[in-house]
Amino acid sequence: MRVGVLALQGAVHAHLGALQRIGVDSCPLRRPGDLDAVDAVVIPGGESTTMSMLLASSELLEPLRRFVADGMPIFGTCAGMIVLASEIEDGRDDQVALGAIDITVQRNGYGRQLQSFETDVALPETGTFHAIFIRAPRVIRVGGGVEVLAHHRGDPVLLRQGSVLVASFHPELTNDPSIHELFVNSVLRAGMAG
Ligand code: GLN
Repeated sequence: MRVGVLALQGAVHAHLGALQRIGVDSCPLRRPGDLDAVDAVVIPGGESTTMSMLLASSELLEPLRRFVADGMPIFGTCAGMIVLASEIEDGRDDQVALGAIDITVQRNGYGRQLQSFETDVALPETGTFHAIFIRAPRVIRVGGGVEVLAHHRGDPVLLRQGSVLVASFHPELTNDPSIHELFVNSVLRAGMAG
């Protein structure tokens, strides 16, 4: 299986490195045709409004919409979670919400004082994960078909709907591979990798 990391902006190399460390073949996605060569996609953290504009100008937006419509596996972290959400609060009116997961997110929802913080969150199977939040989105609505896999002080911070996984924090910025493994293992279990 091969995982493509959307490489328009943001923490691209950290994700490529995290995938490499768990022995998964990965590549950057920069051009529309690049999506044809991958079984799964990661959308990194960064700045969702900028990423949104670059998605349009790079012509990756339509192939990515098709990837979502086909139910292919996608993992979004922080800004990537915002891009995958169905509704965005405090975003730009024209910013992309792919609707891959039925949640509403509020951009920069942890406020000024808590713009960036680190905390341990409990994961269902693998134990505690040290989560780094950087101007993170806050999940303010969770649709019926969405599973919440981890919370921070009552807020959902790791969620899954079908083959789509999102985290409001940055698992790629720690050396703990468990969340990348969770994603990759679910792709393998679903038999979606070529
Ligand atoms: N606040 C950023 C946004 O709106 C997300 C921050 C991040 O990805 N670290 O896109």
